[in-house]
Amino acid sequence: MDALTRLAGLSAPMNLEPDGEPGSNTLTRRQQDAICISQAQMPNGRQITMLKTLLTSACERNCFYCPFRSGRDFHRATLTPDEMAGAFMAIQRAGVAQGIFLSSGIAAGGLRTQDRLLATAEILRQKYRFPGYVHLKLMPGAEKAQVERAMQLADRVSLNLEAPNSQRLEKLAPTKVFLEELLQPLRWVHEIRSAQPASRGWQGRWPSMTTQFVVGAAGESDLELLSTTAALQAQLGLARAYFSAFNPIPDTPLENLPAEAPLRQHRLYQASFLLRDYGFGLEDLPFQSDGGLPRDVDPKTAWARQNIAGAPLEVNRAGRNELLRIPGIGPRSADAILNARCRSPLRSLDDLRHIGIRPDRAAPYILLDGRQAPRQLSLW
Ligand code: SF4
Repeated sequence: MDALTRLAGLSAPMNLEPDGEPGSNTLTRRQQDAICISQAQMPNGRQITMLKTLLTSACERNCFYCPFRSGRDFHRATLTPDEMAGAFMAIQRAGVAQGIFLSSGIAAGGLRTQDRLLATAEILRQKYRFPGYVHLKLMPGAEKAQVERAMQLADRVSLNLEAPNSQRLEKLAPTKVFLEELLQPLRWVHEIRSAQPASRGWQGRWPSMTTQFVVGAAGESDLELLSTTAALQAQLGLARAYFSAFNPIPDTPLENLPAEAPLRQHRLYQASFLLRDYGFGLEDLPFQSDGGLPRDVDPKTAWARQNIAGAPLEVNRAGRNELLRIPGIGPRSADAILNARCRSPLRSLDDLRHIGIRPDRAAPYILLDGRQAPRQLSLW
């Protein structure tokens, strides 16, 4: 069976050859679904198609939430670095995926697995001269030299912390060690980026760094998750935290735990963007007494209701950081306001609309040239 077929877990061989129409290397929808092609947004806003895949779905660890955990009964597939690189290049040449997000189950230790991931990336960059997007996973326990090599090959590196601290990780993945195995490689990424010139990174740039948390399976609060996120953003330059609402997988120790509400995941993303892009501090977020964010309202509106509902901000005088506190106004809208009011004062909601702002959410919290913006009456 060829590498692509094994990768996709399909019974029939995948066909990437022209299928009758000249130059039409295509995959069927089912094949595309099977090999997990997703959309990814680049830092410049461009969308690309990305192959998300594992070098091996065999794993010797036993994380309680994971479908690939050791001992779980399902068909495992493993590709060599050569097979994986060749398979991806076939997919890329067929126009199905432009970039690759490469991870792996852990087989024969984190170090050996990391070496195989690095070997795959090296084949892509050196043998195939692939210049496109590579997101490379760092394995638990990776060594500093491996982290540095990954940073010379990838556009993004990541390592999933899974939980906000050691105590919570113990409930999810007792064989992982929070500080030494998971946090340390992320620290090294920051250390290397700080100590060495970016010219040593892939195409003259150091890769961005991300992590992911499982949400709702370890009893962790939103406050715990966002405290760790804020610390990683401030101290290690984390580009983004991903939050993955827990979903029970059959034949895992957590199979009887209820799934986490997707709304909680959504509120965590909103709060993490406030921390990263809107100048909010952890102390500004509207945590409730149990450490949770309100679910019925987004965290920025909850903050505005508590802090500026009775004292609206004058749009023509507010600084950028103040504008960013107003619901409905993001970084781009704040900049548009600052530019527009240099030319003439903003006097009406229509003036905001003309510079591309939908003012409905902002209206209760702003003054326009000294006057409260009119609001739509709610009849229901
Ligand atoms: S180490 Fe990764 S692949 Fe292995 S069981 Fe844990 S989460 Fe799953």
